[in-house]
Amino acid sequence: MQSNWQHKARNTLKGASSCNDFFQSNQFKDQHFPIKIPLEFANLIDKNNPNDPLLKQVIPSEDAPSHPDFSASPLADESNAPVEGLIHKYSNRVLLITSRVCAIHCQYCFRQNFDYSTHDAMSNWLAIENYIRTHQSINEVILSGGDPLSLSDEKLEKLIKNIENIQHVKLLRIHSRSVVVTPSRITDKLVEILAKTSLKVVLVTHINHENEMSEAFVKNIGNFVNVTLLNQSVLLAGVNDDLNALEQLNLKLFDAGILPYYLHMLDKVDGAEHFLVSDDCAIELHQQLQKKLSGYLVPKLVRDENAESKTWVSSED
Ligand code: SF4
Repeated sequence: MQSNWQHKARNTLKGASSCNDFFQSNQFKDQHFPIKIPLEFANLIDKNNPNDPLLKQVIPSEDAPSHPDFSASPLADESNAPVEGLIHKYSNRVLLITSRVCAIHCQYCFRQNFDYSTHDAMSNWLAIENYIRTHQSINEVILSGGDPLSLSDEKLEKLIKNIENIQHVKLLRIHSRSVVVTPSRITDKLVEILAKTSLKVVLVTHINHENEMSEAFVKNIGNFVNVTLLNQSVLLAGVNDDLNALEQLNLKLFDAGILPYYLHMLDKVDGAEHFLVSDDCAIELHQQLQKKLSGYLVPKLVRDENAESKTWVSSED
């Protein structure tokens, strides 16, 4: 039988036509990265505001001018994959590509062109397990995707048990946007799985704007037990590139028991040019934020190490 969240996952707007019908608009146009918006997220969008910060994240750019700094795969993840489905950039931790599926398609996504067909950690588990067992320095496994919470609770539980069986792995980090765009994904079973594992669990939510945090999300995220909650955002022009938006987001995160962790510079993927915030503006905003909020409410401003500059502290993953 399907769980409630799987049923709700089908309540998703897919493609320009269904989105234009829902939003009574003609703004959506089909392009290479298919439009996908769960109704739980769509219902938070102000249909009368073409500049709604949630809408901006899911609507394809009409005429994104191509830019030489942008490319199909800005982080070149594939070049750091010694085993299919596993990315190993830092000695103590590996990242697993557990699912190609996401509850939502974010138009700024740096993995929108990633070749998932050859990177499926679930089908390649034996090789991955062997790799981790032979690298004793690895004490943390990061579940990524797509979105790892696109997996069923049963598959997730099995994967976590397999990871637990590797003695030198102590930490489990899960990166997920599903939890906020489809709060129904926080099932009692998921809460139980993460509460009872012997691994130390860190759940990194991906939230960019306070309006994403519905009442259902705030209620459900509070159900986790023995899970450290952190958030990472992407700094996006037209979405959260102003002081008030960042201040309110980080206050609301803390109120929900989530510590602001990273504020990422945009990874320069083709089609996302309109989301770019300049380095100068980002640094200025971050400095202003530090003056407004206590230190523990200010996320680190980061850029991925594989991106072209290392102006700031590099992100972990
Ligand atoms: S949820 Fe994450 S991986 Fe999926 S489209 Fe959005 S940014 Fe990309």
